[in-house]
Amino acid sequence: AIDFKWMLDNKEIVSANIRNRNSTANLELVIELYESFCSIQKEVERLRGERNTVSNKMKERLEPSVRQALVEEGKKLKEALSALEDDLVVLINKLQVEAQCIPNISHSDVPIGGEENSVVRNLVGKPPEFKFTTKDHVQLGKELDLFDFDSAAEVSGAKFCYLKNEAVLLEMALINWTISEVSKRGFTPLITPEIVRSSVVEKCGFQPRGENTQVYSIEGSDQCLIGTAEIPVGGIHMDSILPDSSLPLKYVAYSHCFRTEAGAAGSATRGLYRVHQFSKVEMFVFCRPEESDLYHEELVGIEEELFTSLGLHFKTLDMATGDLGAPAYRKFDVEAWMPGLGRYGEVSSASNCTDYQSRRLGIRYRPTPSNSPPTSSKKAKGGASPPTQFVHTLNATACAVPRMIICLLENFQQEDGSVIIPEPLRPFMGSLGAISPK
Ligand code: AMP
Repeated sequence: AIDFKWMLDNKEIVSANIRNRNSTANLELVIELYESFCSIQKEVERLRGERNTVSNKMKERLEPSVRQALVEEGKKLKEALSALEDDLVVLINKLQVEAQCIPNISHSDVPIGGEENSVVRNLVGKPPEFKFTTKDHVQLGKELDLFDFDSAAEVSGAKFCYLKNEAVLLEMALINWTISEVSKRGFTPLITPEIVRSSVVEKCGFQPRGENTQVYSIEGSDQCLIGTAEIPVGGIHMDSILPDSSLPLKYVAYSHCFRTEAGAAGSATRGLYRVHQFSKVEMFVFCRPEESDLYHEELVGIEEELFTSLGLHFKTLDMATGDLGAPAYRKFDVEAWMPGLGRYGEVSSASNCTDYQSRRLGIRYRPTPSNSPPTSSKKAKGGASPPTQFVHTLNATACAVPRMIICLLENFQQEDGSVIIPEPLRPFMGSLGAISPK
């Protein structure tokens, strides 16, 4: 369902976008493979036509010698077709691998360049001022007995963690509060499968295999552990035509996330910042194409409301082309102040993927005539239902638990070693107002 014809007709736009995104995609190769695919496909169709003509002729009364000649011809056609069909399968696989690397086009307002070119679109609050020497979340966790990294390292490996005592209540409270807040805004709550087929991972725009994959594959199967609930939620409507009246479909999904974090060396990795397994609440929207910019604003607005309610200081960024990831057309990140790092750290990310995922996942809708764009097709003019179109998909983090725990511990720490729990979370943790040294 990738629109190769559009790519061919808009080579300049596609290759400029590949450059702007610092992508390794090879458009020339994709075009070459697509053109070979088209010519083999044409030849396959021609041979199939010939084979049909031969088999139709065979139904007639024929001289034995003519019949024999037709049998021979049919046999040759069958062999030629089978060889070409094998070539076609190999070619389609190659084309898919290469085309997968071609990024979505970018919104015209997206700043061009690397992460440093991202533009701040909102700044909320101020960094807290402390009149005492602060501790980072690892130190606070040690003193308050909230984490066990050492046992996790023995049992699972580096970058895993046991949460203990009030950290467990805090994780549960964050998840429950977030789901309750987001579902109030019309999102359907989901708990997703955490193992999915590799093909679904691929169709959502992630690479399930390869040297630098972020995805854990399950040996001896075609399945993977999810890196984000975006994958199972994206797949929930795959290969279907959604009723126009059902759109937008909004979900808020809780899952664990599993990431290899290959290539993450050198970035912030201390404590809970970058772990292999974490809990996350994710928002996901399926909508009509003309409404996706609007829902992108709504999603980032919800993130900002949630972080404001928790009392965090943060900024929201319109991410530059080099930091978008292949499926995103535009991405807004929220970075919250983390005293332990002494800088802002990413806590959430909201992407409008337009039809990048829906084309691969096969998710369409049939616009009602008043919603469908003007068309010159006689059928549509005659009142028949308009053609189906791909929906747009969007995803956004509502709560990535470990980074929220970092923010809460580090920003709300007190001189006596305790940590104040933000008001909205207290009803979800038995009215606990603070985590205090034992
Ligand atoms: P992403 O799906 O990559 O946009 O990530 C969503 C959010 O999850 C990020 O904004 C981070 O807050 C958080 N996150 C991503 N990777 C990790 C990790 N390895 N450990 C903890 N939190 C993470």
